Amino acid sequence: MRNNILSIVIPVYNEEDNIPVLYERLSEVLKGLEVDYEIVFVDDGSSDSSWEIIRELHKKDNSVRAIKFSRNFGHQIAITSGIDNAIGDAVITMDADLQDPPEVIPKLVDKWKAGYEVVYAVRERREGENFLKRGFAWLFYRVLKKITKIDIPSDVGDFRLLSRKVVEELKKLKEHYRFVRGLSSWIGFKQTGVQFVRDARFKGKPKYSFWKSLRLALNGIVSFSIAPLQLASYMGFIVSIFSFLYAIWAIIARFALNRAIPGWTSIIVVVLFLGGVQLLTLGIIGEYIGRTYGEIKRRPLYVIDKKLGYDIKEEM
Ligand code: UDP
Ligand code: MG
Repeated sequence: MRNNILSIVIPVYNEEDNIPVLYERLSEVLKGLEVDYEIVFVDDGSSDSSWEIIRELHKKDNSVRAIKFSRNFGHQIAITSGIDNAIGDAVITMDADLQDPPEVIPKLVDKWKAGYEVVYAVRERREGENFLKRGFAWLFYRVLKKITKIDIPSDVGDFRLLSRKVVEELKKLKEHYRFVRGLSSWIGFKQTGVQFVRDARFKGKPKYSFWKSLRLALNGIVSFSIAPLQLASYMGFIVSIFSFLYAIWAIIARFALNRAIPGWTSIIVVVLFLGGVQLLTLGIIGEYIGRTYGEIKRRPLYVIDKKLGYDIKEEM
């Protein structure tokens, strides 16, 4: 009987200082497991020497495969491409900056062998990330949990194992505004988590700016819930009731009480409030329309420049 194959998918965006150490620690762990393995690096348009380093690794170790995008497409797309191209019976996705310690992999594999189709790594603690990021992340996962119908686990990033069965289902989900961790929960099957401590980034700066993180969070919410749209209609409903009552009061004040002159403050408050609510609702609708527009263009998710280790016209 052949050994199981394990694929490790690693998105890389300017991680030249991290790749060699990651490769060493990862190989060490993988060699200790009773599986064959491949390490799939996805170079998401790096401008440093990441690709050259990956190429060297591929030359000396044929379990290293790689995909190079034609430009930066983003972390979630890079993961998707790695998963699309992985050949393993199970696929593990992890970051290149050693925040996801390779030493956790055997625990993921154990759960898979025990029959789970998705094994995600739960951040018990986060090291070296600032208060603001931790705070926002905490809040985001709580909000997401409240407003989505599917059970997306909290404090879980993209460090996870997916079985072949799940990978095949994931490939059918072609959406552009991707929130991969949500998609893998959406798929279902037997899922479980293992706890780990998320280390500080080994070298370099985080590639996710505050705005990029916010975009990802919005993608998570908008792709899995229409609660914000419903919020817009609830707000509209409540504001209408108040407006109606206030209109009645205005009419009584004018005709029955004959005291309709004072009112600058109330007018300005009402105008500003309604304007704010309208802009907010328009913005919410805009988020959904923008994404709908993005989806209907049906562009491919990514463009590949080069591949290593996939035989097809191997370019260096
Ligand atoms: N990454 C990527 N494309 C991007 C941004 C990030 O492939 O546009 C990779 C990055 O190299 C790393 C992982 O995604 O392996 C997570 O990025 P980062 O560490 O910046 O995110 P954080 O850990 O701060 O959430
Ligand atoms: Mg990181």
